[in-house]
Amino acid sequence: MTTPGSALVLFSGGQDSTACLAWALDRFDHVETIGFDYGQRHRVELDCRDAIRDGIANSFPHWGKKLGRDHTLPLGALKSISDTALTGESEIRFQSNGLPNTFVPGRNLLFFTFAAAIAYRRGIKHLVGGMCETDYSGYPDCRDDTLKSLQVTLSLGMDNRTVIHTPLMWIDKAATWRLTEELGGPALVELIRTETHSCYLGDRRRLHPWGYGCGTCPACALRAEGWRKYRAG
Ligand code: ZN
Repeated sequence: MTTPGSALVLFSGGQDSTACLAWALDRFDHVETIGFDYGQRHRVELDCRDAIRDGIANSFPHWGKKLGRDHTLPLGALKSISDTALTGESEIRFQSNGLPNTFVPGRNLLFFTFAAAIAYRRGIKHLVGGMCETDYSGYPDCRDDTLKSLQVTLSLGMDNRTVIHTPLMWIDKAATWRLTEELGGPALVELIRTETHSCYLGDRRRLHPWGYGCGTCPACALRAEGWRKYRAG
């Protein structure tokens, strides 16, 4: 069920965006990736990206042939509008909605807009992102309606049909692992378990059954719970 055409995947190096990369490689003729460097604490996530891309190309040669170039965009301005910068507070802490105070409101709107501009230049119609309403109801810019609306805006604003795909929108973390297994079998599950990064604190000192992380931040808790549920079947 290959869809003709090219896709650009918002690829952070985390579990969700890597599952989306596999999903896109399974579906499209040609797939490129884009990552944003905005001075995030968990920059380690960005550093995982090359290892994941190499791992995919080596373990899945049929996908490796379709995997095109990687784009990394510096978005340092985002750091200057995070709460830690605006309040002069340097400590990372978690708000009542589970998001770290380094989170920038509307971040995904910016990411997709930059991605669409690059896609325009590259002749790419499809944008793919790992946003999910099931686990991230606290992020208004992850909502399905937000992204459907943005798809219309980008298509009009660039006078060029853009399609935003969010294959994880309605599934939970356990189902994301199951999707991973369907797409690439145990090899892809293992690659994502050991090479991707989700922890808000950027901790990669200890490998847990579900992957690396501090084990206590909301991102680690979510990832651990999804893995437990997936393994329990
Ligand atoms: Zn963590």
